[in-house]
Amino acid sequence: MLRRYQYRLYPTEDQKTLIAKHLGCCRFVYNWALNLKNTAYHDGGISLSRYDLTNQLPALKEELPWLKEVNAQSLQQSIIHLSRAFTNFFEGHAEAPTFKAKHAPEQAFTVPQSYTVDFKQGTVKLPKIGSLKVKYHRTFVGTMKSTTVIRRSTGRYFLSIVVEDGRKPPQPADPIPEQTVGIDLGLAHYAILSTGEKVENPKYLRNAQQRLAVLQRRLARKQKGSRNRNKARLKVARCHQKIADQRKDFQHQLSSRLVRENQALAVESLNVDGMVKNRSLARAISDAGWGTFLSMLTYKCQEAGKTLLKIGVFEPSSKTCSVCGYRKADLTLKDREWTCPDCGTCHDRDLNAAVNIKQFALAGAG
Ligand SMILES: [Zn+2]
Repeated sequence: MLRRYQYRLYPTEDQKTLIAKHLGCCRFVYNWALNLKNTAYHDGGISLSRYDLTNQLPALKEELPWLKEVNAQSLQQSIIHLSRAFTNFFEGHAEAPTFKAKHAPEQAFTVPQSYTVDFKQGTVKLPKIGSLKVKYHRTFVGTMKSTTVIRRSTGRYFLSIVVEDGRKPPQPADPIPEQTVGIDLGLAHYAILSTGEKVENPKYLRNAQQRLAVLQRRLARKQKGSRNRNKARLKVARCHQKIADQRKDFQHQLSSRLVRENQALAVESLNVDGMVKNRSLARAISDAGWGTFLSMLTYKCQEAGKTLLKIGVFEPSSKTCSVCGYRKADLTLKDREWTCPDCGTCHDRDLNAAVNIKQFALAGAG
């Protein structure tokens, strides 16, 4: 099983410069390859493969010798990332790849091999950069695959290592209905379970978001290019990061508990991309970070040998009576409660949806 470990990295000033060089060159190669690919397609209908692009790298490096100052494998990795982005696009999981901006909040480059980790010394040795200080808060056992160096706009650096631990994921058993939970991800609540439990959105996140709004207003008033503006920008970035970290913590706790307490879990495979385009819901949904939460459930179920059942986006989980199956076609988003005209059951909209998600998923699995 592949696992990812992330650690805080503490480069010296000289190493920061070398990292910046790697980030710049990798971004340059990514954008160069994207441009080449787009042009070849528009001008001649030619689809350049990953190998076509990689084969042109040596000529590019002759033309632009500064590219030779960084790890060649990291540059090749940029082309691999681009081709993965295109695959995701063609398979309908993502938007078409766009050019990488210099000021993106998170910049990264990958070192596919030839790096060494020293837990005792607390260092990592990267080609063309040298030995960097790392805080290893936990160790791992297994074969190291690639590692990624991440620089956030907060000025913090991280090292993310992919490790093959050599273990086979446990084989999940057939879902037992009594030990299966249906999960409806909501807006008013973070999640509603078919057991009747309503998981609240954490309050500290809402408070932090108010603070973020204040900081953003202050930033907007600062003069462009001034020292104070840069300070304000850093404060906004740190607040963003704090909110993101807290949200991730909350999602980790909730997903771990749900996987631990249940033998099988049922969710709606949300079309989050499509929903975020609906502007009235956009803010709340991206804040809730459902996509991240679902991917946490997915890998945690895999690791624990539990089953994650997904039902289609278009199954009317909120509009169907979970008791008798009656479909109330005219139910709107505003209707929080409704009474089934057929069997007379009074439904809480979200709880009814969670029960249906469980029932639909089990019916589909059986
Ligand atoms: Zn009914």
